[in-house]
Amino acid sequence: MLMRFYLKFIFILFPVFLCAQTPTVIQKPIIWNAEREQLSLDYLKNRHGIVQQTAIIKPTMVVVHWTANNSVQATFNTFNPVLLPGRPELRKASALNVSSQYVIDRDGTIYQFLPDTVFARHTIGLNYCAIGIENIGGDKYPLTGKQLKANEKLIRYLKSKYPIDFLIGHHEYRAFRKTKYWKETDPEYFTSKSDPGDAFMLKLRENLTDLKLLSL
Ligand SMILES: [Zn+2]
Repeated sequence: MLMRFYLKFIFILFPVFLCAQTPTVIQKPIIWNAEREQLSLDYLKNRHGIVQQTAIIKPTMVVVHWTANNSVQATFNTFNPVLLPGRPELRKASALNVSSQYVIDRDGTIYQFLPDTVFARHTIGLNYCAIGIENIGGDKYPLTGKQLKANEKLIRYLKSKYPIDFLIGHHEYRAFRKTKYWKETDPEYFTSKSDPGDAFMLKLRENLTDLKLLSL
């Protein structure tokens, strides 16, 4: 009887448990070509002071954002070009366009724009180690409960795959400026951020307490 229970656990319950840990992710890749990789390598070198042969990251942090728009397609259209259009405050630091590895729609659908370990420009000083999760929403479109659940699932999955120590909201990145984790060659290069806000991060951290992720 006991044996039958164990067999039942291994063949029925264990795979169900594993499935629950892996979120459904829709691949929606933005352009990653030789020019984007070169600009990413230049960014790593000039901004972060890191010289590498390939534009990959070793993820130890997740940064949660909101997009300040209301559609995945609009976000895709913003991130897809290799070169940054306009935005002079960012352009003087690098011509590389902004991007993020993940984007979560308002109904909780998770899209992947770049592989987890491919460099994305989303958080000054921390891109070299951070996976970015964008959420469709902003001041006018408060993030949804379904997005909260999807972020939780995705972060649990990322934590199971990489040695993630830190979970922060973009608006909290200022706290890293005086730490060894901050890598930015220009001490004046910094922009003020409010996304995704304390309320969302508080709820997210409550749901992920068991992961013991750090912030500053
Ligand atoms: Zn942001």
